[in-house]
Amino acid sequence: METPLYIYNYTQNQLKMMFKQWDLPAYTSKQVFSWIYQKQVMDFNQMTNLAQKTQSFLKEKFTFNCAELHAKQISEDGTVKYLWKIPSSLSDTSSEVIESVLIPMGYKKKAISRYTACVSTQAGCKIKCKFCATGIPRFAQNLSTAEIIMQILEMQRDSQIHFSNVVVMGMGEPLDNYEATYQAMKILNDTDGINLGRKRITISSSGLLEPLKRFIHDDWPTSLAISLHSANTVIRNSLIPIARTNSLEQLKKIIRKYTFVRRLPVTFEYILLKNINDQIQDAEQLAEYCRDLLCKINLIRYNPVPSLPFESSDETQIQKFKAVLKSKGLPVFIRERKGLDISAACGQLGLKKLIPNSPTTALPSIT
Ligand code: SF4
Repeated sequence: METPLYIYNYTQNQLKMMFKQWDLPAYTSKQVFSWIYQKQVMDFNQMTNLAQKTQSFLKEKFTFNCAELHAKQISEDGTVKYLWKIPSSLSDTSSEVIESVLIPMGYKKKAISRYTACVSTQAGCKIKCKFCATGIPRFAQNLSTAEIIMQILEMQRDSQIHFSNVVVMGMGEPLDNYEATYQAMKILNDTDGINLGRKRITISSSGLLEPLKRFIHDDWPTSLAISLHSANTVIRNSLIPIARTNSLEQLKKIIRKYTFVRRLPVTFEYILLKNINDQIQDAEQLAEYCRDLLCKINLIRYNPVPSLPFESSDETQIQKFKAVLKSKGLPVFIRERKGLDISAACGQLGLKKLIPNSPTTALPSIT
């Protein structure tokens, strides 16, 4: 018997081509796609507009299961962290897990009004930024398209929440797992799929130049965020090892092309590390780097990781840093800290590997 294929690995076009080879009607891929992603059905027998023999045929070819919920933690601020065991590690006692986070974003009358889903693309990360927990253990593996998509579908199923946005800012460098992430983004964007527009999906990259060129050429259906963290070459090189061969100047050229071609701003992410990149001259250098770019800047408070020597900047310093950027006319925001008490905040994923199942309480209400 053939090994079944993970259905979440395929875009609608790919399914169409496969179905054509199997002499199934051309419209079957659209029907299947809409059952899977819009009605969240995981059983071909429930796809009632498919012929019975098509249902049986597809049941033999495909499987839906591709991850197991290992644990779930809920923060006092409403953030939810999910830990998944992925198929390649299901029988592996070394306990390779990946994490995804459901982040409450907007509030109306004190109730949460929308959520963003943050997903991972790798188990571990080869970039090894000095301030990030994900880069500490050995790199384990790239995730498949199905494993990326599964995080979104399973979080949606578990929480019964329809996300307004997806950010690819979890474990891993998405452009270092290029093909699988690209396919997942196409499924997210497909109007018969999860149907999220380009502005509602954000890919975050540490600034790998060659994949970024491909990203522009392939017209990814997403927005782009760059983890900058310093506009000073020496400081950036010390925080992000790949910056030594992916220079700020070259990065700027590529970003300029992206903003010109897509007519969208790039978002710069800047983690403020006490006495390292949070001084007034650092803000001025950042402002100079951004001066002629279509961009916005997200300032992020550092979230502590045991064993790493960094500290978050003081609040007064954060406000001074922001004021410098604002005075230069740059759009600048301070990202709210979310999920710190369950190690789900920015830079903390992968910190806890296997934890016992924590009690799952009801999610806060949504207006
Ligand atoms: S910040 Fe992102 S790119 Fe850097 S080590 Fe962490 S997950 Fe990897």
